[in-house]
Amino acid sequence: MNPPLLELRDIRAGYGGISALHGVNISVRAGHVVALLGPNGAGKTTTQKVAARVHPVDSGRVLYGGRDVTGMSSRDAARAGVCLIPEGRGVFPNLTVRENLWMMTFTGKTREQIEDIAFTRFPILKERAAQTAGTLSGGEQQMLALTRGLASDPAVLLLDELSMGLAPLVVEKLYDQVAEIAREGVAVLVVEQFASAVLDMADHAAVLVRGRVEYDGPPGESLKKELANLYLGSAS
Ligand code: ATP
Repeated sequence: MNPPLLELRDIRAGYGGISALHGVNISVRAGHVVALLGPNGAGKTTTQKVAARVHPVDSGRVLYGGRDVTGMSSRDAARAGVCLIPEGRGVFPNLTVRENLWMMTFTGKTREQIEDIAFTRFPILKERAAQTAGTLSGGEQQMLALTRGLASDPAVLLLDELSMGLAPLVVEKLYDQVAEIAREGVAVLVVEQFASAVLDMADHAAVLVRGRVEYDGPPGESLKKELANLYLGSAS
């Protein structure tokens, strides 16, 4: 079997001497969606930043396609096909939808190719093409952020709190697209605090509590039942 496209092995990391991750193991295969869940402050974003090589590790290893990239810069990680779409969506609010897309021509794609990626997947963005991104609904902004990520042809897609502030139906539609992206062979690691939408489409789930993976397994009913205990346990 091919090695996972993304693998974190026994990662310890923190902020100025305070540990946030205490030996985290996570792997994501091509074509799979892994949901990384956990309460506030559990270390989910830190895990994604480590995966994208934006945040340094104290120990442990990061591997892309079986290759050790622990020493790699975030820039080289992006070049290697790892795309982080951060919480807050990463769009330019004062630029139009079209200009936001055109900013991605540095990837080597033409404006037409990038618009085609966006408008085929999310036809509503075509209707909004001349509107500034800051005036889009939250769901539309997230669509724009996703397409900007896709314009770089990622092998690994890291999504942070895609559902933040969005209505359940909008979240469901976005996750349909994420599932579609995974089916095309991308390895997707999705961070969410509130789990239900992502669990319906994930292939695997990991629950992080206080910097430790407390659950690592299928995203089915048994996890949904266990989740409340894991989250409540973290509050004590
Ligand atoms: P949330 O859902 O609130 O974003 P999270 O699970 O993504 O939480 P992280 O943001 O990774 O958690 O934070 C993990 C721990 O590291 C927390 O205790 C947090 O307070 C701490 N932390 C995060 N960022 C910093 C920072 N820039 N400086 C210092 N401590 C930080």
